Amino acid sequence: MIQERFTSQKKLILELVKKSSSHPTAQEVYYEVKKHLPRISKATVYRILKNFTKKGLIKEIPLKTSRFDGDVSPHAHFVCVKCGKIYNLFEKTLISFPDIEIGRVLRVETVIYGVCKECEEKA
Ligand SMILES: [Zn+2]
Ligand SMILES: [Zn+2]
Repeated sequence: MIQERFTSQKKLILELVKKSSSHPTAQEVYYEVKKHLPRISKATVYRILKNFTKKGLIKEIPLKTSRFDGDVSPHAHFVCVKCGKIYNLFEKTLISFPDIEIGRVLRVETVIYGVCKECEEKA
């Protein structure tokens, strides 16, 4: 019974992150999960998110406040400093590097900071 509930908690969290395109923070995921499972604790949500990240089911974007990404395909991120929106970038030059002398590259996490077109047009 307990096992069953645990499994559906995990499933719900994974679904929420996977279908979100906003790269939510753990806090945002928690609020969203709470709508469906009012008794879930923040610690549980954090733990499950960390666990999914470790398993490679989702990605953690290391910003000042970590954000989570359901799209694990290689891509870079553009962070708008005005609205805080995070955009995906799939340009090859941003996600791969030629051989590096120091060692073997496992992954590249590129974060570009800027002002998005939407905000630029509002200004
Ligand atoms: Zn913006
Ligand atoms: Zn992304």
